Amino acid sequence: MTTSPTTLVRSQPDSVAARAVDVARSALLQEVPASEVGDHLGVEAETEADRTVTHFFGSNRPGYLGWRWAVTVVRAYRQKLVTVAEVVLIPGGDAIIAPDWVPYRERLQPGDMSPGDLLPVDDDDPRLVPVYSFGDDPLDADDKAQIRTVATDLGLGRVRTLSPEGRDIAAQRWYDGDGGPDSALAQSAPEPCSTCGFLLRLSGSLAESFGVCANGDANDDGRVVAFQHGCGAHSEVRLAKKHEPQPLPEHFLDTLGLDDFESF
Ligand code: SF4
Repeated sequence: MTTSPTTLVRSQPDSVAARAVDVARSALLQEVPASEVGDHLGVEAETEADRTVTHFFGSNRPGYLGWRWAVTVVRAYRQKLVTVAEVVLIPGGDAIIAPDWVPYRERLQPGDMSPGDLLPVDDDDPRLVPVYSFGDDPLDADDKAQIRTVATDLGLGRVRTLSPEGRDIAAQRWYDGDGGPDSALAQSAPEPCSTCGFLLRLSGSLAESFGVCANGDANDDGRVVAFQHGCGAHSEVRLAKKHEPQPLPEHFLDTLGLDDFESF
């Protein structure tokens, strides 16, 4: 027996497949208890006049509120009956589902690493470029290790160094961060870091925009700061006269002893 679909559909499906509600429900009940199957919610075909049609049933399964049973049926060309292709439980619009998976590498935030943690960098990390080439021949890890040893012996230094992209990414991060001009500290600073005697200069292209704060009394001591950053510990900060500490009165030597006190 076939039953008409209970709701309208997204596109016009094959009429035989769309009417096969009982076939779909029967297939579903072979997989799950009847207590977990709700009303027929509708049918859906991927394309116009598609003979592959999915029937949706409500889910009463505990913990799966808002999910739907989806039973896909197919009518082969020139056939009058449908066959069941698959039965699955899928989330509906109101279903509570887990958030999208984010790889661990992308979840890391500055400060997440603990002593002993290792964070390998990909060979093709765009932030780094090789200082020397391994050549065009395919090499295994041992071959590369030998070349690194020779390069070290020759004094070629590091295997990789910062790429222009890696440098730009770092510069933007520093500029946008706590050491940049938009931080609350910088916004109320009397003078910028560029005029501060505690600013240590960098070398290279970043030297035109950044330095390192070397004021042990400042919040940014030991950190990279933008020239437009600043703080109240600037080397040339002077207090206004009214804010300067008032001189203490002359000391007074109190010679009054206990005996003198009792004789009063
Ligand atoms: S003390 Fe303040 S103004 Fe001076 S370099 Fe450090 S952060 Fe900049």
